[in-house]
Amino acid sequence: MASGLPYRDHLVALDKAHVWHPFTQMEGWLAGDPLMIERGEGCWLIDVDGRRYLDGVSSLWVNVHGHSAGAINQAVTEQLHRIGHSTLLGLANVPSTELAAELVALAPPGLTKVFYSDAGACAVEVALKMAFGYWQHRGIATKRTFLSLDNGYHGDTLGAVSVGGIDLFHAAYRPLLFPSYRGPSPYCYRCPLGKTYPSCAIACLDPIEATLDEHAGEICAVIVEPLVQAAGGMITPPPGYLGRLRELCDSHEVLLIADEVATGVGRTGTFFACEQEEVAPDLLAVGKGLTGGYLPLAATLTTQEVFDAFLGRPEEHKTFFHGHTYTGNPLACAAARANLDLIRSEGTLGGVRDRAELLAALLKPLHDHPHVGEVRQRGLMVGIELVADRASRQPFDPALGMAWRVCSRAREAGAIIRPLGDVVVLMPPLAIPPGELTALAEITVAAVVAATAATGAASPGAPWAGRW
Ligand code: PMP
Repeated sequence: MASGLPYRDHLVALDKAHVWHPFTQMEGWLAGDPLMIERGEGCWLIDVDGRRYLDGVSSLWVNVHGHSAGAINQAVTEQLHRIGHSTLLGLANVPSTELAAELVALAPPGLTKVFYSDAGACAVEVALKMAFGYWQHRGIATKRTFLSLDNGYHGDTLGAVSVGGIDLFHAAYRPLLFPSYRGPSPYCYRCPLGKTYPSCAIACLDPIEATLDEHAGEICAVIVEPLVQAAGGMITPPPGYLGRLRELCDSHEVLLIADEVATGVGRTGTFFACEQEEVAPDLLAVGKGLTGGYLPLAATLTTQEVFDAFLGRPEEHKTFFHGHTYTGNPLACAAARANLDLIRSEGTLGGVRDRAELLAALLKPLHDHPHVGEVRQRGLMVGIELVADRASRQPFDPALGMAWRVCSRAREAGAIIRPLGDVVVLMPPLAIPPGELTALAEITVAAVVAATAATGAASPGAPWAGRW
């Protein structure tokens, strides 16, 4: 190496000199010893020294069939030989056209229009702007704000942050954000209303109904993460929540935006989570797993009715003035088509349901562990909420970084997992083989047991450096 350092040390030095990592306190990162990933094989991440780690969070919730899946690699390569990119501004291209029709066929009824972007946050921005524009173009100018939920997360662009409800991430930017109405989080384990399901009759929707009763004339849409508030801590609303929210939107003439960026593409056992409550939203954002975790691609689906509100002569200025340079990128769309083909041919959705059962059984030992408050799961999305005291549900002192300690131990044992606050997250690739899923669960259980038994121990190594 030109630097005279071994290859890995050379790369780490370059990383520390130049790369600013997302959602990472860089002071800790600079003091730590990061993993340098070089390649992937199936559900394994392999670092520059050849060490192998199970990808327990699907490379941030995106991977579906494992890394280097032949069919996706081949589809991208074939597309690359045709064209890498052409714009959707004023032109169409083959893969984005075919993919749009496939997405519409998979989507809840009524969602017939597809607008492409390249990140989940962008798909949400598009949904927000479409919902706003819909009412404006219909001449109902007062409907210009949104209703969102505590603990909601929709991405990091300013519109998405405006409807975000995680203070740790979002409070600092409040002066830059537009105001929105807020409803309570459907967080049964720590019910904001102090009630218990099912006797509560989902009372956390009552304040939302009251806000809609009073302010529907100002609200263009409600935005929700169907079935799981993911980044908020894998919070799972009770059954019936989404369906009733849809009814409230209908009765108050407010649009419903389903943010399926985390839950979509099979993650909860159906292609879209909305299906499980037979809900058809007015707008739906999808991203993450859309390309199987190979390339950045997101999309906002909407109805003919929303689409039609933007039709008019150019001088009416109803055009949807929004677009990204790589909108509808052919390589990403080709990857997505190959991903969808594999989901169909491999029976991935049924596989998710089977694996979800296996995972639930493997995590059973945690259910009565004194430092586990709750294990929440929908399909292959799992959150293990750690607590200092199970009876009182008292959280750990955040300064302990308990969930980071768990992840650190898991890494030493060969699995990459990441926490959200004191919730340990498991989000393996949807097609993870049962043997590897078993290994991931066993490593996680052992890490929870060991880390919570050693509460006084000194800060562990590398993952600690990633803490917020
Ligand atoms: N919405 C939800 C529900 C998400 O979980 C995320 C990402 N975790 C986003 C939006 C933002 O997606 P991206 O990071 O691709 O912008």
